[in-house]
Formats: sequence, C-alpha cells, structure tokens
Amino acid sequence: MNSFWADMIVKMSLPLATRWVEKQESVIMREGRPLSEWETMWAQDVGVSKPEEVRILPVPRIPTPGSWITRIFGVFGEGPTGMAVNYGIYLEASNATNPSLLVHELTHVAQFERMGGIGAFLEEYIYQCVSDGYWDCAMEQEARDAAAPFSRPPGG
Ligand SMILES: [Zn+2]
Repeated sequence: MNSFWADMIVKMSLPLATRWVEKQESVIMREGRPLSEWETMWAQDVGVSKPEEVRILPVPRIPTPGSWITRIFGVFGEGPTGMAVNYGIYLEASNATNPSLLVHELTHVAQFERMGGIGAFLEEYIYQCVSDGYWDCAMEQEARDAAAPFSRPPGG
C-alpha cells in the first residue's frame, strides 16, 4: 500500500487503538503475574529494560478490538496465541508455557519501551503492518528472530 493511504489509516485508527491498548494493559496489570527468574533473564536478553514492570495474563482467548478496526488488528495477535500491550502480555492459556511465544511478546515489550510508549509504538506498528504486511514488517521480523532460538522441534 502506498504511504498516503498507510498514513491515513494510521491517523484514523490511532486514537481508538491507543485507548484500546491502554485498557487491555490496565486489565493485565491488575490481574496478571510478574515474570519468573528465567523469564526475567529472557526479557533482559531481548532488550527489556524494566522486566519487573512486565505482567503476564493467560486467557482462554486473546481479546480483539471491536468494529472495522479489527481488520487492521487482525494482524495484532500472533495467530491469536499471544499479544503484547506495553508492559502487559496476554498468552492464550493453551500456549502459556511456550517459551518462544513469550520471548516473541517480550521483544514487542522492548519495542514499546524503545519507541517511547503506546502511542509511538502503535503509530509505527500500524504503519509497518499496513505498508509491508504483518509477516514482512520489521517489528515482527525482530520478534520472530529473537524467539527463533527458543523454538522446539515439533513434538519435542
Ligand atoms: Zn508479533
């Protein structure tokens, strides 16, 4: 998609998307658990500077925002097994002990920190997803590369 339309979609979706992400984060902050010792090391490995702020909340299904925006945010969940919203991480309960999924999401937490919070993250993330596609965008590639060493062979 050309950059004019990508910009337009970012501008239109950003206020709603930001509010939605803030709301999800506050739920996870309230109900989630802190990182274990191992998880804290993984978080530091992928560049999270405040791992003590991170909370994890396993849920039966990853929530998605309502309305047309869902189509853009269809890209948001990782085929919907996990989602990072600033310092909050949702993990689908059946995948909650999968280290490669957690490391992937922790990499997104590091991106939120690096970019300077929810608004700045979303602006860049939505722009990249719209212009390059979910799979090819740089922020997803970074998260996949970080998680790759943690992937176990099927059945292993
Ligand atoms: Zn991702």
